[in-house]
Amino acid sequence: MSSSEPPQSLAALRHEIDSLNAEILAQLQRRARAVIRIAHVKREQGLEGHDPGREEEMLHALLADASGPFGPDEIREVFQAIFRASLDLQQREGRRKLRVLQPGIVPPGGIEVGDVSIGNGKPVLFVGPCSVESAAQMETIAAFISRLPVAKILRGGAFKPRTNPYSFQGLREEGLRLLRNAGDRHGLPVVTEVLDTAGLEAVAASADMLQIGARNMYNTELLKAVGRLDKPVLLKRGFMATLDELLLAAEYIAAEGNTRIVLCERGIRTFETRTRNTLDIAAVPLLKLETALPVIVDLSHALGRRDVILPCARAALAAGADGLMIEAHPDPDRALSDGFQQVGLAELAALVAGLGWGEPRPEDILEPSEVSHGD
Ligand code: PEP
Ligand code: MN
Repeated sequence: MSSSEPPQSLAALRHEIDSLNAEILAQLQRRARAVIRIAHVKREQGLEGHDPGREEEMLHALLADASGPFGPDEIREVFQAIFRASLDLQQREGRRKLRVLQPGIVPPGGIEVGDVSIGNGKPVLFVGPCSVESAAQMETIAAFISRLPVAKILRGGAFKPRTNPYSFQGLREEGLRLLRNAGDRHGLPVVTEVLDTAGLEAVAASADMLQIGARNMYNTELLKAVGRLDKPVLLKRGFMATLDELLLAAEYIAAEGNTRIVLCERGIRTFETRTRNTLDIAAVPLLKLETALPVIVDLSHALGRRDVILPCARAALAAGADGLMIEAHPDPDRALSDGFQQVGLAELAALVAGLGWGEPRPEDILEPSEVSHGD
């Protein structure tokens, strides 16, 4: 611009730019509102949010029309930025609508499993053996657990998702029966894993809570099927799953109507080898920032070792966990699965005392030598 032009003209031009900016901004917001309406229509029709073909078409039409100082490169760049921002907006909008992110998803008293409530401010212990192995094993552990001075749910795998096909696969229907009987005899609600939709009916008929294991977090058919039942669900995070993926897996369940979901951080795969997985402690407060669903931490599968359970359990509770899962076995060295990470009864009592939950009476603590291996 030449210096001979009067300063008023620059001011006037700037004024024109200011009002053009305001116009563009108003149009951008109009466009954004239309984008949100499209997101709603697509959602109602069950369509995928992003349509790269449609973006290409719009760009093509804009470039065909581009006459003016801006060339095709600038037009492309500006509109691509608008498309990206619109896609972010649609995704944000879709996310805001997720059932699992609604504050009222959990009733004020928490999620009830039998007479135990999860998410009411008092921690719940999910405890029991990795696998149900025998009536005697279940009787010993359930009798012991029932006396622990904390709210608890008896766990035990009947259908086991083992990595190695030649490893113990669980007692299946018989395991369900033994778990149920042990829970009933000692007044404990029971949770066990459901591996597939074919086994769902039997597991749901027997257990108070259904566990979806880490290997099944992405099994959308199973998630939908448990979503159609009126049973609380313990949903474990996959080994390689982000928190978004965990929340979306929970959404699969909630979308079918079942919102009684408890999330479980159970360690993720990293390069670290000291522990079986890496306990992602930040997952607890991060999930709780976004969802009202209760979050528990499975220390046994996260750590794969017993010696650091107590400090990590303290960390989980300090981070806001609504409960802990600990695998416990009357005689871990003779366990049919995950023996290396299960705690014995005396160790379990020490953990409970170490967490400040109270001391079980000494007469309630059995040593492995006292445990029956019958049945
Ligand atoms: C389990 O809790 O029995 C289990 C197999 O855990 P995960 O699915 O977390 O590996
Ligand atoms: Mn296990």
